[in-house]
Amino acid sequence: MIIDSHFHIFPRMSGASGLRSAKEHARVIQKIVTGYWTARDGVTSEMQDIKFRVGKYGKYYYTKNGKEKYVRAMPPWMHDMSAPPEIMLNYMDWIGVNKAVLLQNHYFGALNRCFGKYVEKWPDRLIGTAQIDESRAHEEGQIRRLKKAVKDLKLSALYYQTYRQEWLDPSGGYDAHDERLYPFWEEVSRLRVPVFFDTGNTRGIEQYLTELRKVEGVLQRFPDMVAIICHFGVLMTYARLDVQDRMSLSPSDAFSRTDSVLARYPNAHLEMGGLLFGNIEEEYPYPTYQKLVRVAYEQLGAEKLLWGTDMPPVLMFCTYRQCLDFVKEHCQFLSEEEKELVLGENLARIFHLKTG
Ligand SMILES: [Zn+2]
Repeated sequence: MIIDSHFHIFPRMSGASGLRSAKEHARVIQKIVTGYWTARDGVTSEMQDIKFRVGKYGKYYYTKNGKEKYVRAMPPWMHDMSAPPEIMLNYMDWIGVNKAVLLQNHYFGALNRCFGKYVEKWPDRLIGTAQIDESRAHEEGQIRRLKKAVKDLKLSALYYQTYRQEWLDPSGGYDAHDERLYPFWEEVSRLRVPVFFDTGNTRGIEQYLTELRKVEGVLQRFPDMVAIICHFGVLMTYARLDVQDRMSLSPSDAFSRTDSVLARYPNAHLEMGGLLFGNIEEEYPYPTYQKLVRVAYEQLGAEKLLWGTDMPPVLMFCTYRQCLDFVKEHCQFLSEEEKELVLGENLARIFHLKTG
């Protein structure tokens, strides 16, 4: 069974997408896009006068020094900035992916209800995650929101962003491992849902370590919780370091300083969504990314690694079939059995799916 552990389906980005209004959604998108995609152009999230707007064909527009500019954050077929389930399921059919886990992100809106509908319509193909307002996870209302998502909407996992999100709450709430959040994590444990921890777009090993410590704090307190760290943990942070920084630190050293700690937690996993976002100047099949997978494999074993792609944004860098073949054909250090674990059997175990 082949399962993509990091997949996105979402309605038009110009709509409210489950938030209070389209305006509120646009504000969240601007925060994320300006904090990441436009950094090279010197456009930051603090700039309020750039007339940021959701465009068409995968582009966001803004105005700088009186000039209209754009940044591409999605592939060009996304004419109305949506990723409809029918198109995304066809991508899966095309290359033979059986199931996909729909991850959230405030960037896409608040999609619990929307994912509930998708999962109801395609129960054999799609696995939905729930998201709450992390900055208020200490409040009873968010625990209720989680329970509703799992029990009523049939979402089977939680997606949780560990980093501060000042657009949700200027005070930023509490860190994931703060004891004020224990009632929330107790409910997660009672519901027995796996948690996808998104540690964010960390810039540097130390910043990543700060986020990892929050996840570790939760796992120390709740060791039975199944945790999946998104975006391949420290290795994606490593892939995004400047060349000089990468020269002075090997990927296995970066791993030893951070994610090797996950070996102590039998229920902790790494998923590789977004790894192939092409920040290293290399042609497919990306020997450097293969080396990074090898480091994780050698330190944690194949049972803890999950194949994931970050569809559809990854289509700006390579095809969906190349994402699959990256592991299936090119990670030759994995045995056939190990490839099956990474490509889907591990997730089938996590979600108690029948295989074979
Ligand atoms: Zn993603």
